[in-house]
Amino acid sequence: MDKIEKLLRERRKNGLLRALKPNSLRKEGKIYFGREGFIDFSSNDYLGYSSHPKIKESASRAQEELGVGSSASRLLSGDPRIYHKLEEKIAAFKDKESALVFNSGYHANIGIISSLYGRGDVIFIDRLSHASIIDGVILSGARFFRFRHNDCQHLKDLLRKERDNFRDALIITETVFSMDGDRPPLKEIVGLKDKYNAFLMVDEAHATGIFGRKGSGIAEEEGLTKRIELIMGTFSKALGSFGAYLACSKKIKDYLINCCRSFIYSTALPPAVIAANMAAVELVQKDPLPRTTLLKNADYLRSSLLKKGFQVRGISQIVPLIVKDAKEALARSLSLQKKGYWVLPIRPPTVAEGESRLRFSLNYHHSREALERLVSDI
Ligand SMILES: *Cc1c(COP(=O)(O)O)cnc(C)c1O
Repeated sequence: MDKIEKLLRERRKNGLLRALKPNSLRKEGKIYFGREGFIDFSSNDYLGYSSHPKIKESASRAQEELGVGSSASRLLSGDPRIYHKLEEKIAAFKDKESALVFNSGYHANIGIISSLYGRGDVIFIDRLSHASIIDGVILSGARFFRFRHNDCQHLKDLLRKERDNFRDALIITETVFSMDGDRPPLKEIVGLKDKYNAFLMVDEAHATGIFGRKGSGIAEEEGLTKRIELIMGTFSKALGSFGAYLACSKKIKDYLINCCRSFIYSTALPPAVIAANMAAVELVQKDPLPRTTLLKNADYLRSSLLKKGFQVRGISQIVPLIVKDAKEALARSLSLQKKGYWVLPIRPPTVAEGESRLRFSLNYHHSREALERLVSDI
């Protein structure tokens, strides 16, 4: 296995080696390694829900009553009633007929796409799609085309040219892109999918809990839930715990229960996780203040960095500062570490060559003062 040695050597040489780094605690927007604490700009726990007292209490209660594990796949004995309650709650939250819970966003994307589409079908995805979407598309065996990021004209050209050569068609986009923090022109995409007789799937991993009047995401905010066939999102980011959902028609749900391999052949999530998700969905609807504060703080950080002459992107709680060169991204990250900030460099192959960046993931617990200090320390 020469390739193992070769890859590790190459990556090390180019400063691109990925490695794990155990932390001792994450709390209230900070991360600790041993005694040393940093302001944490690297987590997706945008609302701090992973340690919210109410959510922890729900999880503990469920664990006390139902145990630490679910014992089997849901089609066997791993199907406690609270699973169904969570699915009803999600369906109402997302304003769809029904919902199905998955073990993670990764499980959801690979399973949903590959069980609904196959040879003879066609899928159109945004060029910056998350790895789990790309893997689902490849696993499906459908032909696929990547349109330029958020570029409806390119999507339209591809649909016009390719749509009629295939049976079923699917368009997939994220509603907040994880590395750029920006949003797609969703209304236009919905228009195109109607015109070209395709389904639309949206991935609301980074939008769930943050956008929309109820906090359910961008499909809700733009009033498009009824017009999108497959609305997927996760419990693992703003909602603070783990797992994912698909909000869809009852018919599609029944089909997936029968055919989706990542749903069928994996042990159901533990009861504590389901209870935490339920509490988080309730909390986010009751209390909009954390998410509105978060978005205001993100706007502040973005405009302050722009004023200092930096190139920034996005319109969400994710604020990427583009530095182009991978080595510079690493150097800047290390220099910020020395000043007490934990912000990670995102480099190829996660982003394209020349697109390296520092990615600031904001957290409700970051105060305006902390952000002001960050701006002057960069
Ligand atoms: C994080 C993420 C996923 C995967 O979700 P997990 O629950 O972490 O497996 C899927 N899609 C997007 C866009 C994501 O950012």
